[in-house]
Amino acid sequence: MTLFDSADFEGHEGVHAFFDEKTGLKCVIAVHSTARGPAAGGCRMWPYASAEAAQDDALRLSRAMSYKNAMADLDLGGGKAVIIGDSRTQKTPALFEAFGRAVETLGGRYWTAEDVGVSPGDLVHARKATRYVAGLEGHPAASGDPSPVTAEGVFRGLCLCVQRALGRDLAGVTVAMQGVGHVGGRLADKLAAVGAKLVITDVNPEVLHAVAARTGARIVPPAAIFDAEAEVFAPCALGGAISAETLPRLRARVIAGAANNQLADAAVGRAVFARGILYAPDYVLNGGGIINVAGEIRALERGEAFDPAWVDGKLDRLAQTLEEVLDRAKAENRPTSEVAKEIARNRISLAAEAKRQAA
Ligand code: NAD
Repeated sequence: MTLFDSADFEGHEGVHAFFDEKTGLKCVIAVHSTARGPAAGGCRMWPYASAEAAQDDALRLSRAMSYKNAMADLDLGGGKAVIIGDSRTQKTPALFEAFGRAVETLGGRYWTAEDVGVSPGDLVHARKATRYVAGLEGHPAASGDPSPVTAEGVFRGLCLCVQRALGRDLAGVTVAMQGVGHVGGRLADKLAAVGAKLVITDVNPEVLHAVAARTGARIVPPAAIFDAEAEVFAPCALGGAISAETLPRLRARVIAGAANNQLADAAVGRAVFARGILYAPDYVLNGGGIINVAGEIRALERGEAFDPAWVDGKLDRLAQTLEEVLDRAKAENRPTSEVAKEIARNRISLAAEAKRQAA
């Protein structure tokens, strides 16, 4: 299948492939949309089996960033970079400097940041060749670890969903959490602080026991989390937690967590709806992380220091957007996953139209 036939290509402004002979860099940068502003999305390093697999991932992830940035009401479009390689054995400073040169060729149409397999330490080298890098440490505009902001956004959204679905606050409500890492661990603290009862799991025993000790959570093995007696299921590990296999096992009335791509496919989104479960679309709920990055880009562009109050205002706005999704889904009796996608696409088309008229 050619690039142009790929279902994920639809809507993309540009897909750019880079090869640097000296360093061995092979990377794809997909720019889905710049209608709302420069495309922003992290850089992932992964040992893809083929160039096509890397390209497909870049296409899928860049479009997801357009939706996420639109739902977070940021003046940013969506883009994503993927570097083909093993992040444990193939990283070099020169490779990331070459990646920086690739980003620079796009002249500010794409801002990069860290993602799976890429750390702030790697981006320091990219920064030597381009200024379009967010997520560096140790300067006044730096936004730091996005996880606390992501956790705060998820917490606010989860409270809203529980209020809508159960008509109550979180005191005494049981939340089953899959993954208690950077975001999940902080979310667990917030939930415990308002009196929620926690059932948690993680494949990393160290973080699992630390979170249980802090919050009084009950620990279950990873495979048992789907069967936990809980009103809320919070996926905070990897993608694909909600599938045709796991959904029938869930007892929860609400699904609200931090993980990206929680629904294994679109059919599962419809099945979640059919079961009467309120699902908070993941890219709406976990928008805090990109809001934090956007705060850094904004500060860099203005030559100012990072402003946490701006970030907090955007988190409030994110909660309003989630309300809009829930209201419309209820009024139209449709899955939240479909309504969120429609709102995101609409926000992007409106921005594109405004840009065309201004031109
Ligand atoms: P993390 O790696 O710190 O935490 C994930 C945790 O899940 C780890 O402790 C890991 O051991 C655990 N885990 C992995 N597989 C598991 C399994 N099968 N069962 C149980 N536990 C499992 O990552 P994070 O930064 O906390 O991110 C969590 C999720 O949220 C990811 O999907 C990430 O893409 C998404 N997300 C994170 C941010 C952010 O700001 N960090 C922003 C947006 C989205």
